[in-house]
Amino acid sequence: MKNLNKKNNFPVEIIGAGFSGLSLAYFFIKQGYPVKIIEKTQRVGGVIHSFSAENGAFLVETAANGFVNSAKIEELFQDIRCEMIFTQQTAKKRYLFKAGKLHRWPLSFYETLSGIGRLLWRVLTGTIKPLPEEDFYSWALRCTNKSFNDYLLQPMINGIFATATEKLSAKLVLKSLFYKKIKPTKGRGLVSAPLGMQEVIDKLKEFLVTHGVEFIFKSEASDIKMLHNSFLATSLSSYICIKNHSSNSSTKQTEFALSNSLIRATVTYSKVHEIDGFGILFPNVENFHSLGVLANTKIFPNRGIYNESWILGGSEHPEYLDFSDDKIKELILADRARVFPGAPCVIEHFFIYRWKNVIPEYNLALDNFLSSVNSMDRVTGNFLGVLGLSGIHERNYHLVRNFVKEMDQNKD
Ligand SMILES: Cc1cc2nc3c(=O)[nH]c(=O)nc-3n(C[C@H](O)[C@H](O)[C@H](O)COP(=O)(O)OP(=O)(O)OC[C@H]3O[C@@H](n4cnc5c(N)ncnc54)[C@H](O)[C@@H]3O)c2cc1C
Repeated sequence: MKNLNKKNNFPVEIIGAGFSGLSLAYFFIKQGYPVKIIEKTQRVGGVIHSFSAENGAFLVETAANGFVNSAKIEELFQDIRCEMIFTQQTAKKRYLFKAGKLHRWPLSFYETLSGIGRLLWRVLTGTIKPLPEEDFYSWALRCTNKSFNDYLLQPMINGIFATATEKLSAKLVLKSLFYKKIKPTKGRGLVSAPLGMQEVIDKLKEFLVTHGVEFIFKSEASDIKMLHNSFLATSLSSYICIKNHSSNSSTKQTEFALSNSLIRATVTYSKVHEIDGFGILFPNVENFHSLGVLANTKIFPNRGIYNESWILGGSEHPEYLDFSDDKIKELILADRARVFPGAPCVIEHFFIYRWKNVIPEYNLALDNFLSSVNSMDRVTGNFLGVLGLSGIHERNYHLVRNFVKEMDQNKD
């Protein structure tokens, strides 16, 4: 193993054992560096967790249910010896709700033609790129049309960012969606492990421990003077706390530090009309309580009895986080009744996870902050331009590669 600091023999120190921290450690290990991970809780994985419920009757995911496949994700699964599973045929069907019905494509012929026409015009005239300070809603109106925004882009964006398009930076969102990655060889789309995301996390931890990574649990870093070989891999709110504390100054960083809260409620029913596809997204203009619903058992194979995960909260309904379980059940049943009017629906099992400030808001203030800081090369996480796990993993690869280059140059 390479010694970063020959005099003191310090390993790379990573604060946070969520996926961001584990993935960073993985790339350091592959480069032969010793690593120590400091984690404030007793477990690895951060928001990611899955378990088998009701004596193995079905699987519950608490947050992410998959990775968007990429060459780097395939390599990770291979290295940690984790079987990769792909979505089933039924998951190809994804629905959007419009005017009382489920649609696979919610736009009329004219709306589609005009939206695509405007998009092509922007491409041909070189004006597709977001303007400075342009929010995503304005970009969508400029480059497509209102129906495209309301019934296609907004619900899709809600499914990822849980935020109204008016509040998002167009530049940051588009950058996050179209980050550069090497194509996978086994197939595109969402992937997971047979026993869910926890299996990936467990096998990744096992891989790291086998390669000498030291884990220090129940230890909260609150004031780190950023040493040359320390990396922060926490949520946005923890990052702000640690940064402010370490520099003894409460900077204007809170302006960009908005994060949205989310609820993921997994339900089984004793009687239900099943969704025959990946799930349903609810456009904001339709005024549902939920942002969307995932038909978990239709997504990945062998996930037990039929169950759904309802996603609520986000930028438009932060108050839901404080609602009681019964109230959330009521909201879910009300939404379901609008989708399948008259169909019987009785909830049997209910598992709810309330995540406070979990999704960083990709707004203009965050965009300005990220453009203004000289270097974030000792920081990783979902607030640095890519929200999804595969994007975080890809960014970590480059972070470690640059660090190693820097170290090698210093040696010369
Ligand atoms: C409901 C939901 C569904 C999602 N679905 C998907 C999906 O399907 N696909 C996808 O790609 N992404 C999805 N995401 C996003 C993805 O799960 C997250 O972006 C990602 O897991 C964040 O990982 P992280 O390690 O950056 O943060 P976290 O998971 O928050 O981990 C941070 C870790 O740092 C620790 N920590 C914090 N402060 C300190 C401190 N001071 N000292 C020591 N330790 C500290 C915490 O305890 C925690 O373990 C979803 C998110 C949610 C909430």
